[in-house]
Amino acid sequence: MTDAPNHFSYLAANWASVRSRVDAACHAAGRDPDEVSILPVSKTFGPDVVRVAMALGLHRFGENKVQEIRSKSEALAGERIDWVVIGHLQTNKAKDVARLASEVQSLDRLELADALQRRLDIEDRVIDVLIEVKTSPEDSKHGLPPEQLPAILDALRPYDRLQVRGLMTMAVQSDDPAAVRACFRQLRELRDAAKVQGHDLPRLSMGMSGDFPLAIAEGATEIRVGTAIFGVR
Ligand SMILES: *Cc1c(COP(=O)(O)O)cnc(C)c1O
Repeated sequence: MTDAPNHFSYLAANWASVRSRVDAACHAAGRDPDEVSILPVSKTFGPDVVRVAMALGLHRFGENKVQEIRSKSEALAGERIDWVVIGHLQTNKAKDVARLASEVQSLDRLELADALQRRLDIEDRVIDVLIEVKTSPEDSKHGLPPEQLPAILDALRPYDRLQVRGLMTMAVQSDDPAAVRACFRQLRELRDAAKVQGHDLPRLSMGMSGDFPLAIAEGATEIRVGTAIFGVR
């Protein structure tokens, strides 16, 4: 795992800077900063760095590999940490997710919901989920095709171990802010359409270190920030 500067003051300064940029983006968009939370993404950084972040008062961390959640939660056993899965999830990882994660933001197919429901039943746990929607054309991006969202929302109703709270997306990687913003706007519009269909999805997880002001302008309730807090991976 990356050997990053892990001094308290380094993370504290980064955290304060992200926080103030979020406040500025909210102000520019006429939004209340309390409406936007920041999910620190600790992927590739080891348990020591997570410990420093905890000293800043952070206790919820995004990870894209279940294996990393497993090793860090072992190293940090006894700490109260909520691990949030944000990366593409193979069905055969459902067991560890059911045991260790508080939330999955990358639910993108019913087969995965089946596996999670079954394993969560065994663990007698309930987790929050966001449905990841593919809003960009890149092959490297995962997520449900937008046109399949209405059907999966209906199909997920009986899954009592999964509380569907909202939607997640990654925008296209582009120098054109309009193209990036269009991805975020699409997610918000899908949320609004779902509401008409009877599905209340209050959370929109969108925006990362490089594009979060645009996501906030389009209604993000949560941004996932790695590099701008922890440094370059
Ligand atoms: C890594 C990652 C992030 C954070 O990316 P940064 O550019 O480092 O802020 C956000 N979301 C997902 C799904 C990621 O995998």
